[in-house]
Amino acid sequence: RAGDAAASPLLRRRQENYGAASVLFYREPIEMARASGCWMEAADGTRYLDFYNNVPSVGHCHPRVVAAVSRQMATLNIHTRYLNPLIEDYLERLKGHLPAHLGNVVMTCSGSEANDLAMRIATRTTGASGFIVTETAYHGNTRAVTEISPSALKQGAPPPHVRTVPAPSRAAYGDDVAGGFAAAVAAAAAALAEDGHGVAALICDSIFSSDGVFADPPGFLAAAVAAVHGVGGLYVADEVQPGFARSGDAFWGFQRHGVAPDIVTMGKPMGNGYPLAGLAVRPELLTAFCEDVGYFNTFGGNPVACAAGLAVLEVIEESGLQANARDVGGYLGDRLRALSAHDPRITDVRGAGLFIGVDLGRADDPAVPDAALASAVINGLRDRRVLIGAAGRYGHTLKVRPPLCLSRDEADFFVEALADALAALPPG
Ligand code: PMP
Repeated sequence: RAGDAAASPLLRRRQENYGAASVLFYREPIEMARASGCWMEAADGTRYLDFYNNVPSVGHCHPRVVAAVSRQMATLNIHTRYLNPLIEDYLERLKGHLPAHLGNVVMTCSGSEANDLAMRIATRTTGASGFIVTETAYHGNTRAVTEISPSALKQGAPPPHVRTVPAPSRAAYGDDVAGGFAAAVAAAAAALAEDGHGVAALICDSIFSSDGVFADPPGFLAAAVAAVHGVGGLYVADEVQPGFARSGDAFWGFQRHGVAPDIVTMGKPMGNGYPLAGLAVRPELLTAFCEDVGYFNTFGGNPVACAAGLAVLEVIEESGLQANARDVGGYLGDRLRALSAHDPRITDVRGAGLFIGVDLGRADDPAVPDAALASAVINGLRDRRVLIGAAGRYGHTLKVRPPLCLSRDEADFFVEALADALAALPPG
């Protein structure tokens, strides 16, 4: 990760400016210059297929989003204390994709702020302080949200008001993922009650991305949500990763499970790179919260952010990106499964639409997760002009998450690069 600062003045400047907080991808970090569609171009002219980044979800620098943002930036950019029809146009279009009971929306600048507010609303609503999350969850970077983000903790464990449950994998729960996950959530709820914290909420990324991508079987979340509702807790669907049509099956990840969240948080792809995030909530919960304390976010949901968000929704709807995620994602999944039939080191391919997890295991014992192989493959793919990351408890799951406008040709480019990268890493 260090790179050669002596050989790269830009790297040296970065390290001087960021200090210990400087984290860069790759041993030889890439200087990026521009991007378009699913491709990014480095300063040296090399073009990379972006399989990592789910922020520019409708495509990097999409002309429609760029035009909408530029136009609004040149017209009016203020906070939300004045009336402006663009904001209501956007929220009404967004609510058109949400269940009717989530009638109010609060806009923020980041998914972390949205989850932080969701935690405060859950605490206010229930009078309880306990939260249930998965073992390798990530929900953001504020103090409260870091406490419910075990994957961000480099040492120690979450505090006592936070209980973790294993991610909804077959490895943890066998064939009955729904029943096993619900039983684990119920046990965590009972422990929180016993310790006097009570249950404020179960907060889940609806596709469990940092846990390693667990999408199936659709519906498995329902029993866990029922367990939490049964003890008076809320269910918060963190849609920062799966939201905005990525799963192909539905606009939101929770819809694949047929559940009714009390709060939905969202971010990343919402503004295609312009900072826009927020939550949708049952109005009565927000009303009660606002009796105690106001919520104001200077930049959250300003007219430029709403122009970006509206353009994103228009592109998703008009370009049929949800159907494309389903079709190209299905095609990509099939090709990856075909590859796994020839290489036992690919031990599982799973996901929904254009959110796919690819597990890598040891050649001599595929049951053993191989994070070193994942790291070698990530570097091998970079050499073959594909950018991708890893996730999961053991870091052995390739996280496949390209823009939603991915074509079959681009899917082929990835599969061939992956096959080639694996072939160059002889087993053992
Ligand atoms: N929730 C999930 C599931 C996320 O993946 C992230 C970001 N990786 C966040 C919340 C936090 O979003 P942000 O970085 O915009 O604060």
